Amino acid sequence: MKLLLVGPVGSGKGTQAAIISKKYGIPHISTGEIFRQHMQNKTELGLKAQEYINAGYLVPEEITFGIVKDRLSQPDCKNGFILDGYPRTMEQAHNLEKITDLDKVILIHLSEEEIIHRLSSRRMCSVCNQPSSLEWLKDGKCEKCGGEVYVRNDDKPEVIKTRLETNRVSEELINFYKNKGIFYKINATNEVEKTFALLESLLNE
Ligand code: AMP
Repeated sequence: MKLLLVGPVGSGKGTQAAIISKKYGIPHISTGEIFRQHMQNKTELGLKAQEYINAGYLVPEEITFGIVKDRLSQPDCKNGFILDGYPRTMEQAHNLEKITDLDKVILIHLSEEEIIHRLSSRRMCSVCNQPSSLEWLKDGKCEKCGGEVYVRNDDKPEVIKTRLETNRVSEELINFYKNKGIFYKINATNEVEKTFALLESLLNE
């Protein structure tokens, strides 16, 4: 099962990808998460990517394609994977085609108003990296492991606007996958389980 989840920032695609990954035993590959790990570890790549990420811009493709190519060549990807956050542009879609095909591309749709609300209330766990929402925290801590939470630099209000503009899911990208007959769309709901049920019915089609 080679999947690509697309959706605006804040659509919950990261959360959904993590659930699919666990249930189907295929890796969740999030380029944003790989970059964040590099930034945390202060690697050379992380320091380079950080300038773009903290400003809400896309990281240059020569860096991004390098990490995707490397990740997809790992043995745990041989039975499939869930790509999250790549490709975001046509250049990236064409690059991806050079190294793999995809079975399904699923868009998780969310209105712009709802995106802003979700991003400004998102919190990340500093221990287990689980994204959460202000409303879900338990005593201000991660509802999953009790770890301290923080606001991602790029979830700060001044950066959200730029991210929205830069990261809008491109019509061209959607049409590219529609033309291949592998494009599907669901509406994000307010409940993780409900959204997953919608997704799963597509996966089983
Ligand atoms: P995300 O967690 O997917 O929202 O990604 C966080 C940030 O990482 C994005 O705002 C970009 O700066 C960078 N990033 C993630 N994926 C890509 C990509 N496919 N191309 C370029 N930059 C990316």
